[in-house]
Amino acid sequence: MAADYYEILGVARDAGADEIKKAFRKLARDSHPDANPDDPSAEARFREVAEAYEVLSDPERRQRYDRGDRVDIGDLFSNLGAFDDLLRSVFGDSGLFGGARRQDRQRGRDVLVPVEVDLAEAAFGTDSSVAFHAAVTCQNCSGKGAAPGTVADTCSQCGGAGSVRVARRTMFGSMMSIAPCAQCGGTGEIIADPCLECRGRGAVESERTANVEIPPGVSDGTRLRISGQGEAGARGTAAGDLYVEIRVRPDERFQRDGIDLHHPLKVGLAQAALGFEAVVPLLEEGETDLEIPAGTQPGTVFRLAGRGVPRLGRRGRGDLLVHVDVIVPTALDADQESSLRAYAAVAGEEVSKAKRRRKAR
Ligand SMILES: [Zn+2]
Ligand SMILES: [Zn+2]
Repeated sequence: MAADYYEILGVARDAGADEIKKAFRKLARDSHPDANPDDPSAEARFREVAEAYEVLSDPERRQRYDRGDRVDIGDLFSNLGAFDDLLRSVFGDSGLFGGARRQDRQRGRDVLVPVEVDLAEAAFGTDSSVAFHAAVTCQNCSGKGAAPGTVADTCSQCGGAGSVRVARRTMFGSMMSIAPCAQCGGTGEIIADPCLECRGRGAVESERTANVEIPPGVSDGTRLRISGQGEAGARGTAAGDLYVEIRVRPDERFQRDGIDLHHPLKVGLAQAALGFEAVVPLLEEGETDLEIPAGTQPGTVFRLAGRGVPRLGRRGRGDLLVHVDVIVPTALDADQESSLRAYAAVAGEEVSKAKRRRKAR
């Protein structure tokens, strides 16, 4: 384990739920990037604190962590909603400072694009290219928003800062908080002569493509974040992020269950009774032989260890489970029927009387 979550939150190992929540509240407030605009390490500290809280606030995760097991909380920060949910669960609906974060107002929007892959690509990873529609920096004005040859004026309201300080009442008492300047919309500038190409926005809509490296082990619904590849921000502010959501095309040979795969194997009546060498397809190219012993019952499951899906971001693969599906024939020809009747007679199985066969027309 890289970090000691108890140490990060500054609580004892036997700390109660309330104590942990209290510690997180204080640390999250102190280390939140909005409260430390000039300290680049604040964000890393904040992430550490949030991760520690995410684990220790959940009794089941905490138990696993205490045992020394690896606790997978996914990528807390690449999931659009999860992180806000975490903050809301502690600070209530108004969020950390009781308002939208300054950065959210100005930076470009995040873009969510689906990408379809087949099951093997999801399992073993692939490179993909996604096309989407999003704003790019305006070339005509280099993203400044002012017509070429002109310059923007500094906003008189905020003196160019783009934000103003306001006092807010919060659950921690009265706090100074930062809000976007209303006069300039948070840009710090007033443009008298806007660029005609982008109407002063500094960005224009465009068709774009991005190359995405899909890591092994992703599943349907996994979101990958590509930092800074979202919508261009207004007038030179940071671009949003591109989120690529994986959609896995169904595979008729395999059902996926986490890292395991299930394959239904059709087995004939005689094959199940007498045994045979089956051929089982593999998710990677090729196939493998599988000995089906004589007397195999319907529903028997054979486990091919390590032939499943690789774990996302970790070593090892799941298993391939082969489910025996004994096929009872439904349309016997005359030879097959008489063989089966002969078998039934020898085995002492009582069977329905033969119906008169219709003559083939
Ligand atoms: Zn422009
Ligand atoms: Zn302003």
